[in-house]
Amino acid sequence: MIDHPRRRATDCDRARAVLTGAAGFLGSHLCEALVDRGWDVVGLDNLITGRMDNLEGLLARPEFTFEHYDVTNFIHVTGPVDAVLHFASPASPVDYLEHPIKTLKVGALGTHNALGLALAKGARFLLASTSEVYGDPLVHPQPETYWGNVNPIGPRGVYDEAKRFAEAMTLAYHRTHGLDVRIVRIFNSFGPRLRPADGRVVSNFLVQAMDGDPLTVYGDGRQSRSFCYVDDEIRGIVALLESDCVGPVNIGNPNEFTILELAETVLEVTGSTSEIVHEPLPVDDPTQRQPDITLAKQALGWEPRVQLREGLERTYAWYREERARG
Ligand code: UDP
Repeated sequence: MIDHPRRRATDCDRARAVLTGAAGFLGSHLCEALVDRGWDVVGLDNLITGRMDNLEGLLARPEFTFEHYDVTNFIHVTGPVDAVLHFASPASPVDYLEHPIKTLKVGALGTHNALGLALAKGARFLLASTSEVYGDPLVHPQPETYWGNVNPIGPRGVYDEAKRFAEAMTLAYHRTHGLDVRIVRIFNSFGPRLRPADGRVVSNFLVQAMDGDPLTVYGDGRQSRSFCYVDDEIRGIVALLESDCVGPVNIGNPNEFTILELAETVLEVTGSTSEIVHEPLPVDDPTQRQPDITLAKQALGWEPRVQLREGLERTYAWYREERARG
């Protein structure tokens, strides 16, 4: 049971959000963005992949409260709630392959509980979905109308199908109960607070380059991804939350790179002389991924501003600061 005092009498016109996965990479940035925009935020996280360090600045702010909580259990929050944002889930392939059942549970049970909270409170609900719902896409770039090409019984299926179920459940609540919902499909994003050991390609390459270790390119490196800097990603999610658009809406940077191109850019940005080595391609690794952001442009007036090199420079600066802080 999570008990929170009702809104302070002096602040009764402030909007209040509950955000699951608050200590995660995107969750913590989104909590900050909401507090900056005048929201009170209740953050929940079971800290499997989230880190309290990510909340360092927020915990000092009276508008933010945190509960160490696993949202696969019934979520009870006292007081009014205007928005529920469901961001809890392992998101790196390494993490969701390490926690397959927890990933399925947070996508299924966690989504159900978060929807139930939103319904009970008359709150808007925003689901963090993913480009992984497109699987290994046969349509390129991927518009929201594409149904995807997912292997439900492969190792990545635990994440892909959990998020597909979460989208279906969210729209069932919308259609059945008239719940006010938003669905964002998040493409590869990166930036400060991406855990150095998280296993995603940007963090792996930056850490390897800094350590002078070989950059591990999986497969031949010709598979592609489109990388969105965290500030752009968060700005798009906030725009969706504040819009009338149910979605799903792709929020990602449409500039597409092969993994070899990414490795070369990381070497240039870091000035590292690390070599590039090839390792086996993980099972069901998508061969290509690029968001069609026509809908985000039209419905939200959103498009990314920070391109890969600049984003990598900013992220590299943060990794260096983290190292200096020990
Ligand atoms: N990848 C890589 N080396 C690494 C980590 C990942 O070549 O050290 C590749 C991975 O096989 C995939 C791409 O980079 O093709 C993006 O992987 P990531 O885990 O960041 O996210 P995904 O888009 O697969 O969810």
